[in-house]
Amino acid sequence: MPTWDHDPNGRAAAFDECAHCGRELEADTWQPVRTIEEESGALSFIAFCNDDCHDAYDVAAD
Ligand SMILES: [Zn+2]
Repeated sequence: MPTWDHDPNGRAAAFDECAHCGRELEADTWQPVRTIEEESGALSFIAFCNDDCHDAYDVAAD
């Protein structure tokens, strides 16, 4: 299992916008998060504004 990604200051990674629709995410609310594996093999986290976007997002489609 991947561990939660932290920036060099030790804070949890923050997300600015939904990975599917691009809507701005509010910092204090819960968002569904997904882990994707990049071509380099590195893992990164993406966040969505709601479950619909989470379910609609298809990594392979890009
Ligand atoms: Zn969205």
